[in-house]
Amino acid sequence: MLEDILAGGANALGISLPEGALTQYRIYLDALLSVNAEFNLTAIEDEDQAARLHFLDALGLASRFDLGASSVIDVGAGGGIPGLALKIAAPDIQLTLLDAMAKKVGFLSEAAGLLGLPARCVWGRAEELGRAPEYRERFDVAVSRAVARLNSLAELCMPFVKVGGHFLAMKAADSDSEIAEAETAVEKLGGRLADIREYTIPGTDIIRRVAVVEKTAPTPAPYPRRWAAIQKRPL
Ligand code: SAM
Repeated sequence: MLEDILAGGANALGISLPEGALTQYRIYLDALLSVNAEFNLTAIEDEDQAARLHFLDALGLASRFDLGASSVIDVGAGGGIPGLALKIAAPDIQLTLLDAMAKKVGFLSEAAGLLGLPARCVWGRAEELGRAPEYRERFDVAVSRAVARLNSLAELCMPFVKVGGHFLAMKAADSDSEIAEAETAVEKLGGRLADIREYTIPGTDIIRRVAVVEKTAPTPAPYPRRWAAIQKRPL
């Protein structure tokens, strides 16, 4: 059952969930699965699987990086993983959820409302908003899961991060070559690959990774480029 899986899983990850979090995860999952029939937010429809592969995956990130009261942007949030799941576990973060699909942003805004959690839900493309003064270098942390290969993803995410902040990319265990391939891109964008932190999703044998990139210098003005250029000529 969702509640047992999450309580046990959080414990195994060393995370203490705030009061009411299990109820919030239940409300969130119900919302996610009920709109899923209308448009695709998640391929995972089984409740226990969703608890592990979505919520515990997000908690895995929280177990490997202390978000404290950071301002956090989730780039390509989709149904809200990891951003909204993190906000339940770490309510002190100031959360922005960004997605290119209006319907998904509508869902995120509704779900945050249902959960009683403040979150700024933004409809737009990362490569456009990353150039806007309102968003550029305004966040302590940018997080992202399942949006693009790391060399392209870095160009979408790094412009949002303040110097001294971090970009956290959630990746699979077999991402060595993807990470190695992205090192030049990360450097060109004003960052340094600081660490790779692993965790096992409790109740599974799935090992996941957080690639931790530290922003050491402002992202040069030409970046991010347009999506076609990012894809055609990754840094
Ligand atoms: N992060 C969620 C997760 O792990 O469940 C959603 C992953 S989904 C596969 C990728 C999401 O990224 C989609 O919702 C898509 O609309 C969004 N996306 C892709 N490219 C984007 C861009 N350039 N700017 C903003 N959102 C983007």
